[in-house]
Amino acid sequence: MKRLSQLLITIFFLAIISGGSNVQGAQDVLFQRSLLNALDKGLAEGEMTIKDLKQHGDFGLGTFNAIDGELIGVDGNFYHMGVDGAAQPADDSMKTPYAFATFFEPDKRVSLEKIESYAQLKKQLDNLLPTKNIFYAIKIKGTFKYIKTRSFIKFKRPYPNLKDMFKNQTLSEFRNVQCIVVGIRCPSFVTTSPPGYHFHFITEDKKSGGHVLECHLEKAVAEIDYTPSYYLDLPVSEEFFRAKGLEYNSLQ
Ligand SMILES: [Zn+2]
Repeated sequence: MKRLSQLLITIFFLAIISGGSNVQGAQDVLFQRSLLNALDKGLAEGEMTIKDLKQHGDFGLGTFNAIDGELIGVDGNFYHMGVDGAAQPADDSMKTPYAFATFFEPDKRVSLEKIESYAQLKKQLDNLLPTKNIFYAIKIKGTFKYIKTRSFIKFKRPYPNLKDMFKNQTLSEFRNVQCIVVGIRCPSFVTTSPPGYHFHFITEDKKSGGHVLECHLEKAVAEIDYTPSYYLDLPVSEEFFRAKGLEYNSLQ
């Protein structure tokens, strides 16, 4: 039995390393620009453009300078989703203070049906992962009965902390939408990003979207990209150099 399980483990890793999967490939890097904690400390303007971000992936999520809406990237196209949930292509010159990107190459594809809440969706996805100890990029395409999202109105300096930002979030609800959900999952041990899932969505017609707070999935296909490498890119600015209290614990 022991030999059999060792053999199965060996086959599993060989499968990951071989052509069927690109886990070991140079593209399997989750790129992160700045820290959520930097936003919390009022550093809501960065110098990274959408054009720069695209150098690190064709898939991603984040926000824009001054927390002006939500950012989503799918199939190489990046969009801005405003406070009313309206989406439009993000101009290459727009800037982001905080974002993730990766080149999306799925290692696993599964069908999902009738998942009635965001909590259930996270649980079901967790069951599909070979380990919780690496990063993942996740794309879910299909029909959702319901999605609740949030977005923000552009803030002004001095930027509020996250708690005050959330007091000013605008919620939107969508029913019976064909859409694409873009997500990442960070392992529990990282201290430079919130552990767990973070999802943004955009409708298939690319007209609406936002940061997912709640959902009811009817029928969809989930693709999971195993992403064992993590690249943290920090701002080179006077403001960031002087920032204090960026320890992850201070965000709790
Ligand atoms: Zn978000």
